[in-house]
Amino acid sequence: MLKIGLTGGIGSGKTMVARIFELLGIPVYYADAAAKTIMNEDESLKALIIEHFGKAAYTDGTLNRAYISSIVFQNKEKLALLNSLVHPATIRAAEKWMLQQQAAYAIKEAALIFESGSQNGLDLVIGVYAPKSLRILRTMQRDTISRDEVLKRMSNQVNEELKMKLCDFVIYNNEQQLLIPQVIALHEKLLKTE
Ligand code: ATP
Repeated sequence: MLKIGLTGGIGSGKTMVARIFELLGIPVYYADAAAKTIMNEDESLKALIIEHFGKAAYTDGTLNRAYISSIVFQNKEKLALLNSLVHPATIRAAEKWMLQQQAAYAIKEAALIFESGSQNGLDLVIGVYAPKSLRILRTMQRDTISRDEVLKRMSNQVNEELKMKLCDFVIYNNEQQLLIPQVIALHEKLLKTE
């Protein structure tokens, strides 16, 4: 079974594309959502986070997201440190999940694939591309946050054009090309690649 990564910047439409693959019967692991659960449930990871960020990182055993966000979104080194603690645990969880899948291929959706080195455990990576201006508008609308807030989150991600060059396939979610036909065409290609 092929293990496929699905990535793209904030607001590119990764989740939307992943849902279309799910409609086609392909199992999808939502790594960013899973990471939130893992940070609350993996005891050794929790201990590491407390060691580096202090006891205030957890309230009654649950991650204090406001506290952690206030640290990492102001400080790139702290963000890199948090990612270096969380990524190995989420990569392991995704690999375990992949082994349990029965489909022709399975997808791991994650904002950071190349940045975390998780492409090494994947056969192919799909990128979802949308221009920055559109990604900003979509994210502002979805999360009801300011333009500055979106830009701050984006500043932590690598250049989108560069990231797409590293992908094996690119889906264009730029309002110039229809999304669903692109996903179906790629699905058919991947079924033949099996
Ligand atoms: P993040 O990394 O922030 O989770 P994402 O890449 O998963 O973002 P989505 O959540 O899929 O992006 O899309 C961002 C927003 O844009 C969502 O509200 C989604 O409904 C909307 N959106 C995405 N693609 C389209 C489209 N083709 N047409 C209309 N709305 C879209």
